[in-house]
Amino acid sequence: MKVRVDPDICIGCGICPDVAPAVFEMGTDDKAHTKIDQVPEELQAACKDAADQCPQAAIEVD
Ligand code: SF4
Repeated sequence: MKVRVDPDICIGCGICPDVAPAVFEMGTDDKAHTKIDQVPEELQAACKDAADQCPQAAIEVD
């Protein structure tokens, strides 16, 4: 599974790194960034939860 954050949409709320800290982190630009591009099986559920909880729908998974 691949994941990316759209920095133009992210408002830096901090939810995604709380939900999936192995996948997301906050950058110095106060936007979320992915720590990995390919999400391993064991992190996919948390990654999808983060995408579902993002208030901006800024997280794309496929
Ligand atoms: S949950 Fe969405 S809006 Fe909030 S920091 Fe993550 S990507 Fe940005």
